Amino acid sequence: MDEFSLINSIKQSYYRQPGLLKGIGDDAAVFRVTQGDLVIATDVFVEEVHFSRKTMTPDQVGYRALAVNLSDIAAMGGIPLYYLVSIVVSPSWKKDINKLYDGMQALAKNYAMDLIGGDTVSGNQLTITITILGKVLKNKAKYRSLAKPGDIVFVTGNLGDSRAGLHILQTKNTYDRADYFIRRHRYPEPRITFSKHLQAIDRIALNDVSDGIISEASEIAFASDVALVIDESKLPISDGFKQFERSLQLEWKLFGGEDFELLGTTSPIHWNEIKEIGKQTNTKVTKVGYVQEKKSFKEKGEVYLIKDGKKTFISKRGYTHLT
Ligand code: ADP
Ligand code: MG
Repeated sequence: MDEFSLINSIKQSYYRQPGLLKGIGDDAAVFRVTQGDLVIATDVFVEEVHFSRKTMTPDQVGYRALAVNLSDIAAMGGIPLYYLVSIVVSPSWKKDINKLYDGMQALAKNYAMDLIGGDTVSGNQLTITITILGKVLKNKAKYRSLAKPGDIVFVTGNLGDSRAGLHILQTKNTYDRADYFIRRHRYPEPRITFSKHLQAIDRIALNDVSDGIISEASEIAFASDVALVIDESKLPISDGFKQFERSLQLEWKLFGGEDFELLGTTSPIHWNEIKEIGKQTNTKVTKVGYVQEKKSFKEKGEVYLIKDGKKTFISKRGYTHLT
């Protein structure tokens, strides 16, 4: 398939967003800007670095790439509108490019997003660059820097599932609920709907769990100049998670990452409202800790873990603190 027919085949037959004036087919896309603030995120995915055909089909790769980027929009409290996809197509992927787009479109339509452009070039290694444009109410973006001492810390969904799914895919053993864990790895669900409903609450710091809760907590702590305290016993896990070796469970839920859940902090007065939003949007939310004044002037991103009744400083790669 040449570039022209490829572009023609991935072009949507109609657009969902009323603000779009020109989608694919001209030198650039055009949409009308309305009130509020624009939210923009971009991510690059390289074969064998970020994904592998050994564990995922082409449409799963597409789905996941868009989901990861959408998760960043969710972590800003944004509503996604449009996306652009630039690809470096390697020879072995030529015939499967459409399937990549099928995977992206399957997710995009859930959020009424439109594919409005991109670029296509040939190269040695499949590389996908996705850019999402979204909106948020004026001054309502959920910055990492908004945490304050006295806040509660909460997380959506369950932690460690994606890493467990990958483990199942990479080992030959049989496991309980294997399909569930594999699905959580392949089809992470960005928390767009939940996050959209948080707009009513005036101050929430949010971050998405792409590198594990400790790493995300550390980013919030650093940006807000506070310390986050996480209670290990409160971390939400899925049914069947306990079948894995204890040390793996701990590593995966703290550092596993790629669950694309949301980690947030807000004043305790909003907790009931957040639980209510969780109910309305079918999103599990769990209180997992609190925010306090930071103690050290040296540490970047001060995070403490309460485990077995002890509260210890834990670094982003704090395996050594864990026994
Ligand atoms: P130009 O030479 O002006 O960059 P292109 O032939 O690259 O034009 O692109 C033509 C149209 O197709 C543009 O609207 C562009 O955004 C879109 N497009 C090109 N490649 C892709 C792609 N991989 N995914 C989505 N849209 C694409
Ligand atoms: Mg071009």
